[in-house]
Amino acid sequence: MSNKGKYKIPKSHALWPILWRTIIFLGIIVMIFAVLNILAEYVKDFRSEYDTTYVREMADTIDQGTEAERQEALAAIASDGHNYCIIDLYGEVVEHSGSISVSGYNDKKGEFFSGDLKDILDEAGVADDDDIREITLDARSNNTFLLDDYNTKIDAFSEVYDMARNNPGILFGAAGNEVFSFPYWIAAPMSESSQILMVKSILTVKVKDYTYLAAGIIIAVIIAFFVFILMIVSVIMNLSSNSKLRRWLYRDDIIKGHNWLWYAVTTQDILCKRKNAHKTYAVVDLVFVRYRNFVLCHSVKEAEALLRQVVLVIFGKLKKGELIAHSTAAALPLLLEVKDEDDARARLQDIIRTLEAIPCGHRLTFKAGVYLVIPAQEKVALNQKHYIPDIDLLYNNACAASLSLSEVADSGIAFFDSNLVDEEKWIDTVTNRQQAAVNNEEFLVYYQPKYDPRTNEHAGTEALIRWQTPDMGLVPPYKFIPIFEDNGFITQIDDYMLTHVARNQARWLKEGRKCVPISCNVSRAHFGTENLAEYICNLVDREGCPRSLIEIELTESAFFDDENAMITTINRLKYYGFLVSMDDFGTGYSSLNSLKDMPLDILKLDAGFFRGSEDNPRTRIVVSEALALAKSLNMKTVAEGVEDKSTVDFLAQEGCDMIQGYYFAKPMPQAEYENTVIPVPGQQVQAPAEAPVAQAVPVPSVEPAPAAEPDQGGTKE
Ligand code: C2E
Ligand code: MG
Ligand code: MG
Repeated sequence: MSNKGKYKIPKSHALWPILWRTIIFLGIIVMIFAVLNILAEYVKDFRSEYDTTYVREMADTIDQGTEAERQEALAAIASDGHNYCIIDLYGEVVEHSGSISVSGYNDKKGEFFSGDLKDILDEAGVADDDDIREITLDARSNNTFLLDDYNTKIDAFSEVYDMARNNPGILFGAAGNEVFSFPYWIAAPMSESSQILMVKSILTVKVKDYTYLAAGIIIAVIIAFFVFILMIVSVIMNLSSNSKLRRWLYRDDIIKGHNWLWYAVTTQDILCKRKNAHKTYAVVDLVFVRYRNFVLCHSVKEAEALLRQVVLVIFGKLKKGELIAHSTAAALPLLLEVKDEDDARARLQDIIRTLEAIPCGHRLTFKAGVYLVIPAQEKVALNQKHYIPDIDLLYNNACAASLSLSEVADSGIAFFDSNLVDEEKWIDTVTNRQQAAVNNEEFLVYYQPKYDPRTNEHAGTEALIRWQTPDMGLVPPYKFIPIFEDNGFITQIDDYMLTHVARNQARWLKEGRKCVPISCNVSRAHFGTENLAEYICNLVDREGCPRSLIEIELTESAFFDDENAMITTINRLKYYGFLVSMDDFGTGYSSLNSLKDMPLDILKLDAGFFRGSEDNPRTRIVVSEALALAKSLNMKTVAEGVEDKSTVDFLAQEGCDMIQGYYFAKPMPQAEYENTVIPVPGQQVQAPAEAPVAQAVPVPSVEPAPAAEPDQGGTKE
């Protein structure tokens, strides 16, 4: 998916706001002038006594009508009080009524004239229609005016108007300053007779119309002025509010600096710039560990002040162009320009060392997750023309790297690598498929027998889970048990295992096979279950399995939880007839401490004691002391992970009760366990390849639950 422009916040440029406001301003001005033009047209709506259409009609009647019609038309013109004349193509006045004198400006000759119309037409050399049209006689007095284009009344008016405007004397010399009038001639050619009818008309203009025009212009200027001022103010306000908005958008009030959004926008800008393509950048998630704890121990105010101090210290260590911001409570995204991974590590170590030294009465720790970005390489890897970074993803990678340090107590630096992604994908796959896997019975119970090293007798078994997936084969528990422990599904797994083991034990008992106690691992997460002992009881009883054939293995980590609840549960489990063992003894720190209060039946020494330490005398001392300690606390012992004969001999000599290790047998599928370890009596036992043969012994009688009272409360069966 393209993330082009994901963090593209438009920059506030002055040019565009000014430009579009100018366009609007000019638009308004154009509109005002258009209105003024309409007004002017109105003002120019001169009233003419005669118009060209009328004169044309008259000319047509005179030209094409009968003699009677011709006389009637001429009489009508004369009776209207209009002077007229008919001239031929040579300018000869054929007929006229009233004065036909004219004064004005001969455009052709470029001079003023005054005189008889006939003379003027002569002088103008009027020979045909076109000549008539070309004659422009611009009247300079209030006497007469000759229209040059008889077809267009508007043009005539325009000329009159221009003339009046250029000669205020005419305008204001008019009667009462209200109305002035112009005499002018309208010419209409008559094609039949090759003559021209000219009729004198009077054009009147109302002076008050100009007042409206002047008022309109003044208003238009005022409006234009205000629009202009508004435009300037609006541009200024727009620019200032834009920069205010930006400041507000990018601000982080806690550190009084920048926030995540600013970081994302700026980082994207930096990484996108072509000139930065050959630089290496480190996107860093720097976490102030136990910040919340600091808040609880002090106050929000003090914690925030400390965070600000942290930011200031980091800021002092940044080079030009590098970034720091604040995203969530204790996370500070940084962008460093580095040479390579070593350089990034050295710089962050320096920053963290300085931060740790901030005197605040607290031991400060910081974790940095780093994702290295080389834009040119990423461009190639992502097959992009221009590298468009997904800042969310880059920062998320850095966060994933810092999260990988969550188990570490001290400050640390971790670099993102693709294994982290694979891990996360695997977690996702397991989580999505876990329930279906239980429903489809994809989880298999493997059995690993435990032997008495002194007699080589099969004395116990541990049930170990395997996941038979349809597509990925057999998945070992270390690949999914930690995930189930994290997401809580482990309780369902423990139930699943207990149920299957109890069901099998009940069946094997019926079949007359040798049934030894089988231990099931119960995770610490299960200790959150109320009345855990009763819950386990129900599970086992439902399958018809004697409780004494089930051993509950508690991993040592489970012992760190609520110790009192743990003691109560152990007591109840024992009371109900279960065996209880401590798994992986020796892997933690408080094993001895746990032993003092826990009424356990069995202690399982972790495989770590026996790995590569056969000849180490110190290890042997520790092991024999641990075995002696267990014995004196009345506990049986199991040694896990024993793979060689010498260790078996040593453990036998030290009085270890059972050995669970590859030396004797590996965890095996149910069918193999049934056939080789607990065959039906009388059936031939197949010996495992290297391990000693497990002896088939008579089925032990199952004792009912002891009558001992549980130490603390609990529902008695
Ligand atoms: P664990 O409970 O300590 O189980 C013993 C582990 O040691 C088993 O690994 C077993 O196969 C291995 N082992 C035994 N003898 C030897 C040996 O001689 N050499 C070596 N190299 N390994 C030996 P596995 O089956 O892979 O189980 C690993 C862990 O997964 C178990 O450690 C247990 O903590 C957990 N787990 C297995 N099944 C379950 C289950 O059903 N529920 C829970 N909660 N955890 C389980
Ligand atoms: Mg175990
Ligand atoms: Mg173990």
